[in-house]
Amino acid sequence: MVRVNENYLKLRGSYLFAEIARRVAAFKAENPGAHIIRLGIGDVTRPLPENVIKSMHEAVDEMACLETFKGYGPEQGYDFLIEKVIEYDYRPLGVELEKDEIFISDGSKCDTGNIQEIFGLENRIAVTDPVYPVYVDSNVMAGRTGYADSMGKFDGITYLSCTAENNFIPSLPEERVDIIYLCYPNNPTGVTISKEELKKWVDYARENKSVILYDAAYEAYIREEGIPHSIYEVEGAKEVAIEFRSFSKKAGFTGTRCAYTVVPKEVKAYTGKGEGISLNKLWNRRHTTKFNGVSYIVQRGAAAVYTEEGQEQVKEIINYYMTNASIIRKGLLDIGLEVYGGINAPYIWLKTPGGLDSWTFFDKLLKEANIVGTPGVGFGPSGEGYLRLTAFGNREDAEEAVSRFKTKLSL
Ligand SMILES: *Cc1c(COP(=O)(O)O)cnc(C)c1O
Repeated sequence: MVRVNENYLKLRGSYLFAEIARRVAAFKAENPGAHIIRLGIGDVTRPLPENVIKSMHEAVDEMACLETFKGYGPEQGYDFLIEKVIEYDYRPLGVELEKDEIFISDGSKCDTGNIQEIFGLENRIAVTDPVYPVYVDSNVMAGRTGYADSMGKFDGITYLSCTAENNFIPSLPEERVDIIYLCYPNNPTGVTISKEELKKWVDYARENKSVILYDAAYEAYIREEGIPHSIYEVEGAKEVAIEFRSFSKKAGFTGTRCAYTVVPKEVKAYTGKGEGISLNKLWNRRHTTKFNGVSYIVQRGAAAVYTEEGQEQVKEIINYYMTNASIIRKGLLDIGLEVYGGINAPYIWLKTPGGLDSWTFFDKLLKEANIVGTPGVGFGPSGEGYLRLTAFGNREDAEEAVSRFKTKLSL
């Protein structure tokens, strides 16, 4: 009798976006004429930067030609892209990396989901609450947890609550944890972390021989000075941190697929006998065994981000989204709402007015203003009483949404 991986049965259905779709469809059926503004999507909408398109076209032509055709490339990615990453993304921060510390991949979702494979099952995981669900679900699948309680918290995971009361920055855990997932700028709260706060985590990890998995998917949205773009800006972080970066939100690659993971050679995990093992070696083994590299055409597109024109074009797209974010943020502040994020991230985390729970406010916003957000509780129990709005739509919708908040919503 073949057995299933019963850990999968512990997972809860992908309730959040299915439930949003259900409620929006029901509303539409009753109000066919309503113009619904969707501020719930976590996906980019602007086309790829021109320079990226140009490079990918050239790469396609190379593939059509006997002399320049390419088959399998290095699983870890082409040097032409890795060298640019080092030069543009890390050297200006004062962070020096070697080429074999960078692994090009087809996405940070896969990387943050797969990375747990190189760690033992007995490790204690810590995640922030609210959280990007991939970190939790991938550990549930692997068998690192028990079952979820009625709030959706899995037994065996340490949840670090992030609310307005602690400025959405988690406190160090009371019990010992081995693997800590951090994401800054944060999805869903849109807040960032200061270097001092991040240093507390790096120090914790060094003292406890733990590892930090740092998701910096929204790094390109940081606009304020002094906010760390990489965890490696913190002294000692190379000993204890793995960093994930993606071209998805940075350069509109959500449908094109390219990302990378940095695993410094200093980062170690330990055997039962206490022998330190380089995680770089293990991740290299895992990556080269189970992954065959990102398409040459796509890597050429990604490399085109790292040119003068490419940098300008990326900046322009991010400015577009961040102007939306500031319009939404300012509009909501104007009417006395409590909002967070939207300054260094494309997400605005709104405290629901009048103490409404997330879903009640979601329904009210849909019904009165025909605006779709994402209920905060869908990202974890500490998201209850919040709603996420995204800045990834177009300008007209951002402006219209603010005007509806002001005129249609009864507060
Ligand atoms: C969008 C996003 C990513 C990027 O995922 P890709 O697979 O690279 O598209 C990673 N982490 C978080 C928190 C995100 O929101």
